[in-house]
Amino acid sequence: MTVTAAPTFTALPSDFYGMEAALEDREKDVLMRLRSWIESDVKPIVNDHWARAEFFPMSVVKGLADLGLFGMPWEETRPFENSAVFRGWVALELGRVDASLATLVGMQNGLVMGAIGVGGSPEQRAEWLPKFATAEYLGAFGLTEPLSGSDSAQGLRTTATREGDTWTINGAKRWIGNGTVSTHTIIWAKDTADGQVKGFIVDTTDPGYRATKIENKQALRIVQNADIVLTDVRVAEKNRLQNANSFRETAAVLRLTRAEVAWAAVGNSIGAYEAAVKYGSERVQFGKTIDGHQLIQEHYAKMLGNITASIAMCARVSAMLDEGTQRDEHAALAKEFTTSRMRETVAWARESMGGNGIVLDNDVIRHFADAEAMFSYEGTREMNTLIVGRAITGKAAFV
Ligand SMILES: Cc1cc2nc3c(=O)[nH]c(=O)nc-3n(C[C@H](O)[C@H](O)[C@H](O)COP(=O)(O)OP(=O)(O)OC[C@H]3O[C@@H](n4cnc5c(N)ncnc54)[C@H](O)[C@@H]3O)c2cc1C
Repeated sequence: MTVTAAPTFTALPSDFYGMEAALEDREKDVLMRLRSWIESDVKPIVNDHWARAEFFPMSVVKGLADLGLFGMPWEETRPFENSAVFRGWVALELGRVDASLATLVGMQNGLVMGAIGVGGSPEQRAEWLPKFATAEYLGAFGLTEPLSGSDSAQGLRTTATREGDTWTINGAKRWIGNGTVSTHTIIWAKDTADGQVKGFIVDTTDPGYRATKIENKQALRIVQNADIVLTDVRVAEKNRLQNANSFRETAAVLRLTRAEVAWAAVGNSIGAYEAAVKYGSERVQFGKTIDGHQLIQEHYAKMLGNITASIAMCARVSAMLDEGTQRDEHAALAKEFTTSRMRETVAWARESMGGNGIVLDNDVIRHFADAEAMFSYEGTREMNTLIVGRAITGKAAFV
């Protein structure tokens, strides 16, 4: 971690309406530290790690912990009282440089610590949250299965059976981010006694836990997604999340993180947009830099329009979380809208750079490819659309 003093607040040029300036001074301070640290310690290594599909060095995970980015929402671990809007700007700042970095924080801070924050008893929160906050433990979140993706509310096949104070878990999980590098994975499984989905903190050194990296993935290549097989994994009752007794609690965790994915998607768009604008100011065709051509400027204006509308939407949906008025459909609309706008934006950024847009070193094709994964995880476009459709009409159209 090379950054010590917080640099003075400088507005992001891509924050066209200056919305970041409304944050508290302390929040701006953390964002500036984060921006400097990412520039010096993360940006120089991301293309190489992406090309080799290799996880971040542990110094990066530790750097995120040192900045206080894990455990931000929880009383037990937050470095200071902070808002969901601020946490959204953090996700944007991470995604602007690398979507895998934003995903890593979303996983540890959001899904894993969120599962413990929402589903854990006060004793479990006190025991586990600080260990994840300092990165002594690295987490993963195991919900999706080989045969159950969008329908995980009904379709989970992994089972948990209780005998005395010990549970035995059997089943399989797919796509689990950090699954091969985590020390602990939250496993969601159906209780064979009452059929309800429950959450378990599984130690990945258990002999029945086997994680295999999904190879040849062409998006979010730094994130280590795994297939996990669970064979008679033993979990003590004290490591079952005591307040997660149905899928309702699992959904509550996903609701917390969905809006942050929306913010990270805006960051991913901004990363591509900024690289394209820089390239356009240097590349000369027909006797002038290409940013002086009208059709290229049209790309820039459309990209900035998408980014600006998405920031405004994210800021409001996170303010609703702070106010306690955010519902599933609010977060779902933000995720659907911003990831759809991101897909357009990264494509225009790529197009405006011609052939050089597909070369990794020019910092756009990584954002372009990563957009595809962000589009599908934490609820596909179709699932989020159906959540919004249900809110509009009162009719569930999932099946
Ligand atoms: C990079 C990455 C990281 C991930 N990380 C994790 C993780 O850490 N933990 C975890 O648990 N999961 C993780 N996932 C899984 C992710 O949440 C699922 O991929 C997602 O829920 C979709 O499930 P699926 O891929 O099985 O697609 P499917 O559910 O098979 O869907 C395929 C297509 O059919 C559509 N579809 C399905 N049902 C309907 C319907 N009723 N109406 C209309 N369309 C429908 C979907 O929208 C989609 O377009 C990750 C996925 C990716 C790609």
